[in-house]
Amino acid sequence: MPGELIRVEKEIGEGSFSTVYLAREKSREMREVALKVCLKKHIVKNRMVIYVQREKEALAILSREENKHPGIIGIYCTFQDAESLYFVLSYAKYGDLWNLMRKQPNKRFTVKDAQYYSANLLSALAHIHKHGIIHRDVKTENLLVQEDGRILLSDFGSSKFLKDYETQPPVSDKNQNTEEERPGRARRASFTGTAQFCTPELLEGQRTDPATDIWAFGVVIYNFLTGILPFEDISEYLIFRRVQAVLYDFPEDFPDENAKDLVERVLVKKQEDRLTSEQLMAHKFFESIDFEKLQEMEPPNIF
Ligand code: ATP
Repeated sequence: MPGELIRVEKEIGEGSFSTVYLAREKSREMREVALKVCLKKHIVKNRMVIYVQREKEALAILSREENKHPGIIGIYCTFQDAESLYFVLSYAKYGDLWNLMRKQPNKRFTVKDAQYYSANLLSALAHIHKHGIIHRDVKTENLLVQEDGRILLSDFGSSKFLKDYETQPPVSDKNQNTEEERPGRARRASFTGTAQFCTPELLEGQRTDPATDIWAFGVVIYNFLTGILPFEDISEYLIFRRVQAVLYDFPEDFPDENAKDLVERVLVKKQEDRLTSEQLMAHKFFESIDFEKLQEMEPPNIF
């Protein structure tokens, strides 16, 4: 690692194929960054090359000046040495929203805070979809919180480019890319939380599209407002069965009728029957949100 460019300070997290450090960029007045280090040996051994490539490609597209969005993790650069690949990313001081949520009273968010976070997530999703990218691993843990309280959508390792579909008919897509189309990464990798956000089409090896992220968006809103997950059971297999059957209910104290209506219109088996991001932005749950002025909103003070 070029120690003359970056000074590593401390480890801040571990993923299924990486370790993440807080570091400082010497050339940029010691700007704080997150340095994600992926051991090549580990990536190759676990057949994870495709995920690392996808993450790099998706972040590179989304970091171009004309494609930037304030709610998406930024990538400053990547480099490698004989052992490892390095991603230099924008640093999110407060870690992930799942852990922050667990520290709130009742281990969930208020309706107002849930509106703020989910509106920001929705804006980020609409943006990546516009640029032909599906995230495919949207979950509360993949929302990172910056020092100013704003969130960043992160972990693009499962992402997929919509343009890939233009050159591949669905049938060959399904046959050739089973590695990518099934929730294989979830099965092999860090599974905590992921099974519960999985969609019926991922489980059934069907084509994924923006509606795949919208399903997970519904799971995230449910999670924000209850602290629990709609699809939960004693084993991954049983969770998958519930997802496939869209078998879930709302706790009696679910706090908001509009949110309930939204979730019901999103956790729908057929992708084409789910609300789109545009329809979601116009949904009653977001009545008080001006999506054009999200950046002017004060983030919740939950720390
Ligand atoms: P997986 O790749 O297995 O799905 P993951 O998304 O948690 O897991 P990483 O992206 O490698 O994997 O991140 C590991 C942990 O490091 C995260 O859970 C988070 O706590 C922390 N982390 C990752 N990126 C950043 C960042 N940019 N700023 C601050 N912390 C980060």
